[in-house]
Amino acid sequence: MRIEADVPLAHCNTLRLPARAEWCATVASGDELREALDFARTRRLALCVLGGGSNVVLRERIGGCVLRMQLTGEELLEEAPGHVRVRVAAGVQWHGFVLACHRRGWHGLENLALIPGTVGAAPIQNIGAYGVEVQEFVEAVGAVDRASGEALRLTHADCRFAYRHSIFKSELAERIVITDLTLRLPRARGPRSDYPALRAALGAVADPSPADVLEAVMRIRRERLPDPAVLPNVGSFFKNPVIGRARFERLRAEHPGVVHWAAGDVVKLAAAWLVEQAGGKGMRQGAARVHERQALVLVNEGGATAAQVLGLASRIATAVRERFGIDLEIEPAVY
Ligand code: FAD
Ligand code: NAP
Repeated sequence: MRIEADVPLAHCNTLRLPARAEWCATVASGDELREALDFARTRRLALCVLGGGSNVVLRERIGGCVLRMQLTGEELLEEAPGHVRVRVAAGVQWHGFVLACHRRGWHGLENLALIPGTVGAAPIQNIGAYGVEVQEFVEAVGAVDRASGEALRLTHADCRFAYRHSIFKSELAERIVITDLTLRLPRARGPRSDYPALRAALGAVADPSPADVLEAVMRIRRERLPDPAVLPNVGSFFKNPVIGRARFERLRAEHPGVVHWAAGDVVKLAAAWLVEQAGGKGMRQGAARVHERQALVLVNEGGATAAQVLGLASRIATAVRERFGIDLEIEPAVY
């Protein structure tokens, strides 16, 4: 395995920030993962795990050891008439896996097509799009404890999935490395197509097939979202805030137009609307700016630094707090 010193990471993060790692290990097998963890442990180095780098903001100098997860492989655990169970390694590219499942008639993931990054990162923020979250399919998550090297297996309940959240962003943050995901995928499932933007894109198709949904999701995403290969970004920079009903009613009394979705006893607010109303759309800092069509997306026009991106995010959050009294939480991890 290669463990190198002073490694440039600009090509390893989709914001193309010019970070450098003190040490960087590219991990392609279980043995290499153990070796890299031993290397970091014996030198008391902090660890930063990187998948596709599509949900991180990397500061100029990352002290300690960066682990680039490139574990690949897949194992079919069960093939039943109504479903399959498949274990897939953390370093596999998420979108390629979604396409491969669809081709084999394993359905459900079509709504999550074209999300950049790796399989191993998918449970961390419980990736979601067009009305579907990955947790609906996750049976277990395989991981290794960073300190002891012990292998762990977390059940769906252990993962404590929530909206763009899981135990991997709270109690287990920085404590484990995810090695694999076990998914249970239905073979005959009517696709979920009630999400408004998806419904609109499906147009006259009344009873869409999984292939219709896959095609529509890929089409909308290509039309609406800036491609990080062309305009570097990490997707939504802020999460939609979720607040209690009573607080929501007070907010609505002051701002009757607030865009929201009720979800049981809580209400989800449209972070993009809050940012736009607070004047975020035209904001920029150095080469970091708010995307003109997607107020939640911060882009690097070329040469932006982490300080510029985080400074811009902080000014946007302040503007939203001053206008609405709502704290925006940022979605990407900062290292
Ligand atoms: P990274 O950015 O490499 O890492 C993200 C976090 O996970 C970091 O804290 C990292 O340390 C940790 N991590 C990564 N791999 C492991 C591992 N094996 N073990 C332990 N920790 C690990 N997200 C959505 O939910 N829905 C969307 O629709 C969506 N659309 C996007 C569109 C664009 C254009 C972009 C750029 C991003 C989008 N995202 C979306 C965000 C992002 O793609 C996802 O969060 C994705 O799962 C991140 O994967 P990654 O491999 O790039 O993770
Ligand atoms: P969109 O479909 O107009 O959605 C914009 C925002 O409005 C999303 O955050 C979405 O919440 C919310 N929303 C819209 N209709 C909703 C409904 N009926 N019920 C609840 N919430 C609703 O525009 P978009 O930006 O192109 O996003 C499309 C999908 O891709 C969304 O699901 C979005 O989350 C996902 N996406 C995520 C990222 C990321 O980095 N996290 C980046 C790009 C796209 P939800 O987020 O809860 O869906």
